[in-house]
Amino acid sequence: MEMRKLLEDSGHYLMNTYNRFPVVLRKGRGMKVWSADGKEYLDFLGGVAVNCLGHCHPKVVIAVQKQAQRLIHVSNYFHIEPQIKLARLLVEHSFADKAFFCNSGAEAVEAAIKLARKYFRDQGQNRYEIITALNSFHGRTLAALSATGQDKFKTGFEPLVPGFKHVEFNNIEAIEKAVTRETCAVMLEPIQGEGGVRVPDPDYLSGVRALCDRHGILLILDEVQTGIGRTGKFFAYEQFGITPDIMTLAKGLGGGLPIGAMLATDYVASAFKPGTHASTFGGNPLVCAAAVAAVEVILEDGFILDQCCRMGAYLRARLEDLKKEFPSLIIEIRGMGLLVGMELTRDGAPFVRACLERGILINYTAGNVLRFLPPLIVTEKEIDHLADVLEEVFDRI
Ligand SMILES: *Cc1c(COP(=O)(O)O)cnc(C)c1O
Repeated sequence: MEMRKLLEDSGHYLMNTYNRFPVVLRKGRGMKVWSADGKEYLDFLGGVAVNCLGHCHPKVVIAVQKQAQRLIHVSNYFHIEPQIKLARLLVEHSFADKAFFCNSGAEAVEAAIKLARKYFRDQGQNRYEIITALNSFHGRTLAALSATGQDKFKTGFEPLVPGFKHVEFNNIEAIEKAVTRETCAVMLEPIQGEGGVRVPDPDYLSGVRALCDRHGILLILDEVQTGIGRTGKFFAYEQFGITPDIMTLAKGLGGGLPIGAMLATDYVASAFKPGTHASTFGGNPLVCAAAVAAVEVILEDGFILDQCCRMGAYLRARLEDLKKEFPSLIIEIRGMGLLVGMELTRDGAPFVRACLERGILINYTAGNVLRFLPPLIVTEKEIDHLADVLEEVFDRI
């Protein structure tokens, strides 16, 4: 169908929940995507940190094709081969002992909240309150939204789920003050993604870990955006020398397919028993086969993680050059690995739009932070091209 007609139908038939660009994307390969009218784009957004291996990675495509021919769905009343394989892979490469699968980041967060509450209720303790950070993002379902520390997402949906307290990010004392006898957990993103790519001080998370241990409360890390190699380690917590009790994953996990996971240590995970939590589609054979393929590629020889570290450093260096060139426009470059933000003195929208017109996909968050989340396979040449386009755009606007 012609692009103009598609855009017209999109407006007619879809709920208006996104500020979409007037582009229909039809095909992708590696770092590139093509629109229905044949224009080529370099994808520095990567489906918002989902396309960790780029578009249509051959190993993911083959895994999906094979699994689709074999078995697409059965219920969790049966054991599922690719689900077992994926759980084993994640457990063997993380702090965790057990995995639970669902279909999105928000659902993984919901599962984490329920597990933390259940863990204490099983011990006869009335601890249910979770401390989260201001400026955080944990998803759009009601409890995940209630956990989120940004009013703009919550207004109009009250009453929210009770039991969440929000404190300043990167401030251990603020957490200390918020702990009560009802606190069951602290939940944080290791690096705040939607909140504007905010990296905490190197000793923040270890301080929070120690605080949680002192008070006997759980540490939940929401690695939906930071996990699966995004920061240059398989999980971001490895960058900070700590381990959580519970971790949520989604975005990059399925290599493009929709999957979420909640991982935990045995002593916490044992609070979930048959009937306590479930998901009809969770851990479905098809998405798990894709996730196994994606995870295996990322962990192979550490090549992708190395590439992510090197290209992340290169991208930040190129953006720092631009900062020197445009000091009145660019406030700061932040990030780790290939989760990178550029804070501007102005609204990010016109710059994102101008990049789109020049064949580059990026987005902005927190109003004025340009965000770069390219596939972990991005090359120097592509980063150079991005930097050239940004230079021209900053010159013009
Ligand atoms: C994107 C995101 C979520 C929500 O994931 P969905 O799959 O959109 O539900 C939750 N937490 C963090 C940190 C995220 O970045």
